[in-house]
Amino acid sequence: MALAYELRCRECGKRYENAPLSICDECFSPLEVFVDLDLAKGTVTRDSIAQGPTSMWRYQSLLPVPEDYVPTTPSGWTPLVKAPNLGARIGASNLYIKNDAVCMPTLSFKDRVVAVALANAQAFGFDTVGCSSTGNLANAVAAHAARLGLKTYILVPSDLEAAKILNTEVYGANLVRIDGNYDHVNRLCSQIADRFHWGFVNVNLRPYYAEGSKTVGYEIAEQLGWRLPDNIVCPMAGGSLITKIKKAFRELVELGLVEDKPVRFFGAQATGCSPISVAVKTGADHIDPQRPNTIARSLAIGNPADGVYAVRVIRQSGGWAEDVSDVEIVSGIRELAETEGIFTETAGGVTTAITARLYAHGRIHPDEVTVSCITGNGLKTTDALAGCFPAKEAVRPRLVDFEEYIDRNQFASELVTGRK
Ligand SMILES: *Cc1c(COP(=O)(O)O)cnc(C)c1O
Ligand SMILES: [Zn+2]
Repeated sequence: MALAYELRCRECGKRYENAPLSICDECFSPLEVFVDLDLAKGTVTRDSIAQGPTSMWRYQSLLPVPEDYVPTTPSGWTPLVKAPNLGARIGASNLYIKNDAVCMPTLSFKDRVVAVALANAQAFGFDTVGCSSTGNLANAVAAHAARLGLKTYILVPSDLEAAKILNTEVYGANLVRIDGNYDHVNRLCSQIADRFHWGFVNVNLRPYYAEGSKTVGYEIAEQLGWRLPDNIVCPMAGGSLITKIKKAFRELVELGLVEDKPVRFFGAQATGCSPISVAVKTGADHIDPQRPNTIARSLAIGNPADGVYAVRVIRQSGGWAEDVSDVEIVSGIRELAETEGIFTETAGGVTTAITARLYAHGRIHPDEVTVSCITGNGLKTTDALAGCFPAKEAVRPRLVDFEEYIDRNQFASELVTGRK
């Protein structure tokens, strides 16, 4: 049984048929997919979900895709792992990592949103799709569109990391570098979508795109044994993911799949682009746009489309938001890798550093079940670690040289770091 869904205005409630639209023509507020859960009640059960594929498509009947849609890419269903070593370092005894650094096929949580957006792009008859992107979305659109045989135009800020550009072009996508920041690129995409009748996943397909993020929330609840956590720590760019994890939890409660309980939401941003965390900290209910300047490019959206909604979710839940410097981001990346063997990109450095700070400031109690959302892979942002690991001298292939080398280096590393 497929779910019935339609678009509704988030503010005035005006209803729309399913169409490539993202803004209400009455009040210019964003549209959101409204899903009719009544149809799913009773038919979607823990068992029916468990019998589904080991991908985000095990929740297909809770996602806005056409009834007869047959997915081609097994995105999602990433590991939720306990993080005892990181926990020991930061004073957390019940910390989990939701590891979308290994999301398939392009190693970020953007594979989830693109999968849902492109299902709808095909249903709407678009033969060309695209996006404005800070990188991960570009990779995901290019890969998924290649598999679906769609033409692709991707617009990116001209200063994007080389790895993210290569990881887009390799799929045969048309990549256009725009001489401006993400917010410039995004504005241009709105105009292009109208003019060329293309499906832009985060512009005219945005309501459908956003629903894909719900699968992070569904998975966390199922992987915790059909329980909700006490806290979620989530990175924020446009502010959509954090609101959709919340929506997913609400739906699971409504469907009777998990017991209701309060979950606090904590938002994470880089100080160099922190419009949402600043609003939370100052008590503002509007967003003051910023000009981004941070190594966390995947979070560098100065005028976040869902910023006010993210602020609301955080505030109503009793959570908080924080932001960290570029130096702390690099430390966060290294700390997660050294303790749990998970190499995340800069966004994950943000989330890890902020998770640590929330425990240090007593905003999260050590015993509470807390999930830190790692959303992207470190192999895409190796530039951020440039200089951290200088090239080492080559050792001659003789035991005595190796012994000498070990002696020298143990001595050196003690001198440098004063630990171990
Ligand atoms: C896009 C992105 C986010 C944030 O997503 P929003 O829904 O725009 O807030 C977080 N982490 C990574 C790695 C991303 O690419
Ligand atoms: Zn409206």
